[in-house]
Amino acid sequence: MGKLKKDYLHLKIDNYLVNYKSMDGAGYTTPKSKMLMRQKLLEASRGYCMYCFIRIKVDTKTFSNLEHSIEKSKNGTKLAMCRMNISITCPVCNTKYKKKYESLRIKSIVNTIEYKDYLAANCNYDSCTSMCPAYMRLRDRYYRGEYGHIILQPYDSVVKECKVDSIGGNPLNIEYDLIDGLFYPDSSIQYTNEERKFIVDHINYFHLNDVGERTNEIYRFCKDMINDYSSRNMKDKYDNYIVPLFIEKTKELTDDKLVMLCEFIYKCGLITGRI
Ligand SMILES: [Zn+2]
Ligand SMILES: [Zn+2]
Repeated sequence: MGKLKKDYLHLKIDNYLVNYKSMDGAGYTTPKSKMLMRQKLLEASRGYCMYCFIRIKVDTKTFSNLEHSIEKSKNGTKLAMCRMNISITCPVCNTKYKKKYESLRIKSIVNTIEYKDYLAANCNYDSCTSMCPAYMRLRDRYYRGEYGHIILQPYDSVVKECKVDSIGGNPLNIEYDLIDGLFYPDSSIQYTNEERKFIVDHINYFHLNDVGERTNEIYRFCKDMINDYSSRNMKDKYDNYIVPLFIEKTKELTDDKLVMLCEFIYKCGLITGRI
């Protein structure tokens, strides 16, 4: 394949960002606020699971759960009710994958200074507009637990990145490699071993690369694009967030160039036995 100016074969997946200032009434305290919360988080996630990237909005229905980022313990009213601690996920991520080690994670935070400080801090539940310092310190404590290697979602527009200073301080980003169709730590960042392990643990935690569970939607798109140039205008047709990200990243390419790229990715899929 000819030389392309940009690296189109590695897709960086940014954290989901939520603009909490425009979320009047959305939260987790009443059925109505939960309904609004679901709507707002779905807008932020563009209709995909915030952890495994699978489509959760189908036609007029959503197959989604409001998920507590830091798991609420039995007396953790604030963690249960503060809207800064809520993400939107598919039912599998919420009820299966994120349940694993849940009690160990709760145990790793409940007796800490960060937790006590968080309980003492003021919270406005459905009206919180940014992650308060006490909540951020609690997230940091959570990340440092043995089973806390989860890049919690979402983020607000002020706190854009997941970083853990004690293990390196780099933004913990996932990328999708279009050559082998697998998820990896961001190849553009020089991670410490601990950071790399954190991201790999996250990827494994949500089974992103597991046989039978990993996404093949990119191959479906490539095949469609090879057959019909207008496929690039139908980014919402595919069941994984990877595809719209890829379509957006390649938007400056001509149809012919994008088809060449799709042919290459499709061939890679054949060679690696993915399709
Ligand atoms: Zn999911
Ligand atoms: Zn709050």
